[in-house]
Amino acid sequence: MRSHLLNDLTAEHYRRSVKEGVERVAARLAATDRPFTGITADALAPRIERIDLDRPLGDTTAALDELEEVYLRDAVYFHHPRYVAHLNCPVVIPAVLGEAVLSAVNSSLDTWDQSAGGTLIERRLIDWTAARAGLGPAADGVFTSGGTQSNLQALLLAREEAKTDDLARLRILTSEISHFSVRKSAKLLGLGPESVVPVPVDHDQRMRTVALARELERCRRDGLVPMAVVATAGTTDFGSIDPLPEIAELCARYGTWLHVDAAYGCGLLVSPTRRHLLAGIEHADSVTVDYHKSFFQPVSSSAVLVRDAATLRHATYHADYLNPRRAATERIPNQVDKSLQTTRRFDALKLWMTLRVMGADGIGRLFDEVCDLAAEGFRLLAADPRYDVVAEPALSTLVFRYVPAAVTDPAETDRANLHARKALFASGDAVVAGTTVAGRHYLKFTLLNPETKPDDLAAVLDLIAGHAEQYLGESLDRAS
Ligand SMILES: *Cc1c(COP(=O)(O)O)cnc(C)c1O
Repeated sequence: MRSHLLNDLTAEHYRRSVKEGVERVAARLAATDRPFTGITADALAPRIERIDLDRPLGDTTAALDELEEVYLRDAVYFHHPRYVAHLNCPVVIPAVLGEAVLSAVNSSLDTWDQSAGGTLIERRLIDWTAARAGLGPAADGVFTSGGTQSNLQALLLAREEAKTDDLARLRILTSEISHFSVRKSAKLLGLGPESVVPVPVDHDQRMRTVALARELERCRRDGLVPMAVVATAGTTDFGSIDPLPEIAELCARYGTWLHVDAAYGCGLLVSPTRRHLLAGIEHADSVTVDYHKSFFQPVSSSAVLVRDAATLRHATYHADYLNPRRAATERIPNQVDKSLQTTRRFDALKLWMTLRVMGADGIGRLFDEVCDLAAEGFRLLAADPRYDVVAEPALSTLVFRYVPAAVTDPAETDRANLHARKALFASGDAVVAGTTVAGRHYLKFTLLNPETKPDDLAAVLDLIAGHAEQYLGESLDRAS
């Protein structure tokens, strides 16, 4: 069994195993003609349950054969041009290579003596990203597991910096369509549900600054402490970007921490043509970036950035066995003092390899392509009498709904859209997402695949309409 450990004696075994695995995945990627097979959980579960985990196969080839059956054949493939559902991206190859390297070497980024160069590489990438955001010379940050953790950490810092210890008086102001991790974070930070104050959005799904000003004033009048405003640069549903300069001005006036959740919109930091959409982000006290969304990185790859490195001390705890106080005076770099995690993956290596092979412009151009595609999709939808589209995209999502000409009952339209999405998923021909707008069911394209073309969108719209019409036809039959 020791031959399964990765070391110099097993280098040959490592080469063979990884090569075999890579061959399998490459063959599978080449063979996928649909993003999904449409398999149901009921059909798949018995195949997985049947496997006796106490009887190893003892052999890589056999285990890969089995993996084909239980996973690879029926996975949901984000690289397929007709996967247009959630904020998942096809991954760039330099990052996948980085992933293979970081797993094999298995550095842990908590302390220098577990990572060495890994710590410095992560720091360079944090500085690079913070400079792109314009956060100034005192900026810092740390890689995290995802936007959820980045938002939690940012709000932890904001809470600690707030001018009261009375948790009941703390408020977080954020748009009504901000990410749910804001509310989840509030709960984890010991704040009640009333602590998150939803600010309405305008027609373009951006936070109304007049309403924000009113809420800030209301807090002041009621003796409440607005500990943070969370602005979203790229809402999950609409890709809308809150008016950052105006929000920053209000935050400055009221002395409130500004957190910008750019989990989705961070790709604009490298866009050759759209960087201006993030204007105002440089005023943030903290920023969330998800490289695993708009930088085409494998999960996980994310960071939280702060304007003032000193605020990261709120995450610092010392352990004699790991990061004793004296290590700081010896100026040995360590990242655990800045992180909510302890043992932590060297995710930064994926971004490093990406920048060294493709460059920032290479990534930015990919993101630009999907934003252009969304603009094209908007034109398609707006010109199509079968569909109602909600907002012109700022980034790369489209929220729309099939509107049958002959149906006047909005609940029936809801059911037709819900059915179409389900039927499409079951067919595996395409995968789309769904959401609600003003209580009505809508469908959503999230476009993060530069291989998706306008023809793919047109074809998926025809498929959706086909499923919806079939449902309505059967519904008529049921009624008569
Ligand atoms: C996806 C997303 C998050 C959460 O990020 P994870 O990486 O999924 O944890 C937070 N905010 C926004 C706006 C997002 O789109």
